[in-house]
Amino acid sequence: MHRELTQVSIGIVGVGKIARDQHLPALAAEPGFSLAACASPHSRVEGLPHYTSLEAMLAAEQELQAVSLCTPPQVRFAQARTALAAGKHVMLEKPPGASVSEVALLAELARERGRTLFASWHSRHAPGVEAARAWLAERAIFSVDVQWKEDVRRWHPNQQWIWEPGGLGVFDPGINALSILTRILPRAFFLKSADLWVPANQQTPIAANLSFTDARGTPIHAEFDWRHDAGELWQIEVATRDGTLRLAQGGKELTIDRVGIEIGPEREYPSLYARFLELIHAGQSDVDVRPLQHVADAMLLGRRHPVEPFEP
Ligand code: NAP
Repeated sequence: MHRELTQVSIGIVGVGKIARDQHLPALAAEPGFSLAACASPHSRVEGLPHYTSLEAMLAAEQELQAVSLCTPPQVRFAQARTALAAGKHVMLEKPPGASVSEVALLAELARERGRTLFASWHSRHAPGVEAARAWLAERAIFSVDVQWKEDVRRWHPNQQWIWEPGGLGVFDPGINALSILTRILPRAFFLKSADLWVPANQQTPIAANLSFTDARGTPIHAEFDWRHDAGELWQIEVATRDGTLRLAQGGKELTIDRVGIEIGPEREYPSLYARFLELIHAGQSDVDVRPLQHVADAMLLGRRHPVEPFEP
């Protein structure tokens, strides 16, 4: 009973692939939230009040305390601003915005309104990430290699927004690797150079090679590719004086010198919502733009190579 009284009433905005695959099941299993409604231009969730816009949902559902934005990044800022201005706590799917600067404005607005803004990075909640961070904290790191490759047709069927400005292209999955790297590596790093392969008929890259380093000159190499139809490769390897740490399957598997480490089951989205709840109850925000900043740097420094047209 006490739990029910303290439940946070929440609405989902943007009922697409990730809302259905992850947000709805995670919210159904989290007693700290009660899912009250959803807003999406066309898609509906059976059994839930539905509105075709965030504005209509806010007008009708006065009791809502929080919204979770699962829309494409290009519309995220306007929706987050509207929700914060209406006094709601806001969780942002990754990436937190279409530009770095707009996210800072949202953080300021959340502060002014005394509301929580949570810029979520689901891959940081993969079970191997915190163990990797702890193991690397005291280690001498020689080099880092990231391979983040998947089939765009499998993971983004019929999505045109990923090919438009602000849609990130292959950085849409690649930013997950960057969100893990910025969490597990003990020192800040920065981009030195990048190669971007862009389909002749699209605005965003289908593949990217990135070369980063840190203040000690550590080589950090990343390859992102969407033209990979041989299963997913979502892997980070860190070579250290004490052996090679490997996070595989997007952080669900951790090995050190090929010996598996016990890290528990995958529960990225339940863990994200637990964190959002914790932030709301503590009256805090969590907004880290570093992964998005690295993508912006790649767009600034990247050498573009046109490749054959791609039809989504
Ligand atoms: P998606 O399948 O294209 O879904 C996006 C949904 O947003 C669409 O269904 C669309 O609703 C809705 N939408 C578009 N404009 C809207 C607006 N102005 N107001 C309300 N709803 C609007 O995309 P997705 O794959 O779910 O990705 C959404 C976000 O989640 C992206 O930032 C992505 O990076 C992130 N993400 C995706 C995955 C994944 O595996 N797909 C994983 C983690 C994170 P209608 O259907 O009603 O038109």
